[in-house]
Amino acid sequence: MASTVDRNQLSGSAVDFVDESTLAGLLAGFPAKEAGRGRVREVLAKALARQPLRVEETAALLTARQPELIDEIYDAARRLKQDTYGNRIVLFAPLYVGNRCVNDCRYCGFRSSNPQASRRTLAPAEIRAQVTALENAGHKRLILVFGEHPQYGPEFIAESVREVYSVRVGHGEIRRVNVNAAPLDHVGYEVVKAAGIGTYQIFQETYHHDTYARCHPRKTPKGDFLWRLDGPARAIEAGCDDVGIGALFGLYDWRFEVLGLVAHANHLQKHYGVGPHTISFPRLRPASGVDLGGATPVSDDDFKRLVAILRLSVPYTGLILTAREPAALRRDVLAFGVSQIDAGSRIELGGYTEAGDAQVLEREQFQLGDVRSLDEVMGELLRDGYLPSFCTACYRLGRTGEHFMEFAIPGFIRDFCTPNALTTLTEYLVDYGSPDTQQAGRRLIQQELDTLPEGARKSILLERLCQIKQSDMRDLYF
Ligand code: SAM
Ligand code: SF4
Repeated sequence: MASTVDRNQLSGSAVDFVDESTLAGLLAGFPAKEAGRGRVREVLAKALARQPLRVEETAALLTARQPELIDEIYDAARRLKQDTYGNRIVLFAPLYVGNRCVNDCRYCGFRSSNPQASRRTLAPAEIRAQVTALENAGHKRLILVFGEHPQYGPEFIAESVREVYSVRVGHGEIRRVNVNAAPLDHVGYEVVKAAGIGTYQIFQETYHHDTYARCHPRKTPKGDFLWRLDGPARAIEAGCDDVGIGALFGLYDWRFEVLGLVAHANHLQKHYGVGPHTISFPRLRPASGVDLGGATPVSDDDFKRLVAILRLSVPYTGLILTAREPAALRRDVLAFGVSQIDAGSRIELGGYTEAGDAQVLEREQFQLGDVRSLDEVMGELLRDGYLPSFCTACYRLGRTGEHFMEFAIPGFIRDFCTPNALTTLTEYLVDYGSPDTQQAGRRLIQQELDTLPEGARKSILLERLCQIKQSDMRDLYF
């Protein structure tokens, strides 16, 4: 494979673990060969015991075809999500900082050979203006997105992160900044980590080598499959405990990509004692100057299945569903195991202050499916019985990576996650909520409080909710 990088800079665990013939073999013969009822139920039982699945086990779920078995997969995913995460959904927004790019990814509006793309990099004052608008909408968590370009080195990314944290408007502040950018070397990750980033996300896009080569010209930095595959491992070695992986669904067979993601998660778990913090599963969307011919579209039904199967395969990894998907489908898929969504998103550079209602494809990476405001999404979540959360406590208290105790400590969710979700939701309602959303929020908060056991912790929580409503006290977390 042609390489544009110094192999000495790979991680200690660097290996192309995507054994394509084994993965393809597990799916071979499908649909004629499908996993039997007994095997599927055995795997579901293991998943419900919250044990991460091996790729062979995930393959059994992927090849199940009988409608009743598929229903059992959905039921199990719903149950696991409810038992593990409860009804919390964490909210965030993307902030595109720069779309200059030296890569030429076939599917992306920012690719270097797209003459229609209007290129822009936000200046520090422009970043501050975007963050001001985001804080005024009620956001507390952002993901900064960058093209790959010499201008966007680690120092630049770190400076952008610091700029975001510096903005405080009224009660508004951004408390966790995640990053989605090109894979870095160890020193680069150390630089961005020092700026206080949360998760560093790198999507492999496709785990299928030929498809990867077809989409990413080898003469470009992204053309190096192993450098990218190894990116999250280097990040962990450099101290970025929380890494996010992902695949761009629609480039190749969705079942194969799910196996690739599970193999990647297991590889990190095996070598670092910690799996990815999050998995993303964007579906290919129309983009400026992009011809989607040759793509392998994933139907809505298959998309729901892949989310449910991922939930069951990696019980401790957060699943991120983005606004690429239309609102109605997002609502459907939430129940199968999604833990984070973006809302009120704009992906044009400068889009939070400058864009009109219409999306202008030349200014963005791809077309969004859900352009509702944060408040509209909050209102729907609350009315559907979800508990929207802006909590950032674990990351700020150092509860990250292998030290991330959310699932290890009995009662952690009851004692930490739910109370923190309730305080951050109350902050949102008091500072930014529309009257309708406030009403739906008050109802849900009462329901949640009713389920919490009486005791010292509940008393502290009730006191904090009062303090938020009656004073300027904010950011009170367990
Ligand atoms: N430039 C960096 C990179 O490629 O790693 C940062 C990420 S890119 C701006 C964010 C992600 O958007 C990509 O990793 C890819 O999965 C996704 N993406 C690109 N084009 C897309 C499209 N047409 N539809 C949906 N998602 C797309
Ligand atoms: Fe550049 Fe990322 Fe788009 Fe590829 S996906 S062209 S690397 S911005």
